[in-house]
Amino acid sequence: MGVCVPEEYGGAGADFLSYILVLEELSRADAGVGVTVAVHTSAVTLPILTFGTDEQRSRFVPPLARGEHLGSFALTEAEAGSDAGALRTRAEPDSEGWRITGAKQWITNARFAGTVLLFARTDLDAPGAGGVSAFILDGDHIRVTRDEEKLGLNSSITNDIVVEGATIGRDRLLHEEGKGFRVAMTTLDGGRIGIAAQALGIAQAAYDAARAYALERRQFGKRIADFQAIQWKLADMATEIDAARLLVYRAAELKQRGEPHTEAGAKAKLFASEMARRQTAEAIQIFGGYGYTKEFPVERYYRDAKITEIYEGTSEIQRLVIARSILGLTERALAQG
Ligand SMILES: Cc1cc2nc3c(=O)[nH]c(=O)nc-3n(C[C@H](O)[C@H](O)[C@H](O)COP(=O)(O)OP(=O)(O)OC[C@H]3O[C@@H](n4cnc5c(N)ncnc54)[C@H](O)[C@@H]3O)c2cc1C
Repeated sequence: MGVCVPEEYGGAGADFLSYILVLEELSRADAGVGVTVAVHTSAVTLPILTFGTDEQRSRFVPPLARGEHLGSFALTEAEAGSDAGALRTRAEPDSEGWRITGAKQWITNARFAGTVLLFARTDLDAPGAGGVSAFILDGDHIRVTRDEEKLGLNSSITNDIVVEGATIGRDRLLHEEGKGFRVAMTTLDGGRIGIAAQALGIAQAAYDAARAYALERRQFGKRIADFQAIQWKLADMATEIDAARLLVYRAAELKQRGEPHTEAGAKAKLFASEMARRQTAEAIQIFGGYGYTKEFPVERYYRDAKITEIYEGTSEIQRLVIARSILGLTERALAQG
């Protein structure tokens, strides 16, 4: 739970690429476990390390890095998805600091969270993303109102939550007041490399299963791997997985070196997630009817792969981010991307 967190804060002290390899491998076994760790690390622990004061880092990071607290990232609301800057959760000033009220939707890990990075509007008059601030809440500042039922990713919990007038002190403001959107966007810049690694892990698992099955299953007196139609599917799978892997590792290395990685991360997530959706479907095809049943894991890979095209910025938002970067447009995407 603290792979790339420095040892002084209770982590393993490994680098960001090592953390990405961990996410890939976890997701190869179970994508729900992959996203549990990805949100906990990329979307909660790392932003506290990046934007926190010394006091916030020493107070909040060690329990997260040691896995004593699970982290949750609360940005999305019913009316604020891709357009996260439209969020309406309010943080009103009071004598201690702020009083927070609002509702968030589809929050990974929330039911079991010890630490919640939550985004709320501190300036009700500022347009869009301008008046948003980031806060570090405890699990008991929020109340879970629903466990979402999903197509896949069933070992990961996804919750609707409410915050009902939680009073928090100034020591829980992360970064500057009104600069929360920068925290969110920087977080998602790195977070989406983790989701790309998740997609890669799922696709690798589907390929491994399909390859093994193709070498075993016999029809017309031959292994199905002897049919060119199946060989081409496996060749395309192996090629696309390699391409995704190179994009993911490049983005991770850029982040590791502290270099700009917004465009590289968006390209990695866009390609890896769409590749995973395509290739998990092909894995089912190689399994034939067995692929459609729960007897084999490939139907799960297919269901799990789909979400990687949606969260931490949809594929459409990734294209927007890439287009803005390659066209040199100065306006920053006010979107989850
Ligand atoms: C399982 C799961 C876990 C999640 N975990 C978290 C979490 O931990 N924390 C959190 O804060 N959120 C979380 N989310 C929310 C997730 O990040 C959002 O669902 C995602 O950002 C998309 O927002 P939306 O669903 O409101 O879609 P919308 O924004 O309503 O988009 C609908 C469609 O319109 C397209 N679209 C929107 N705007 C544009 C545009 N400008 N140009 C082109 N197309 C556009 C989208 O790409 C999409 O195809 C989770 C969601 C799921 C399903």
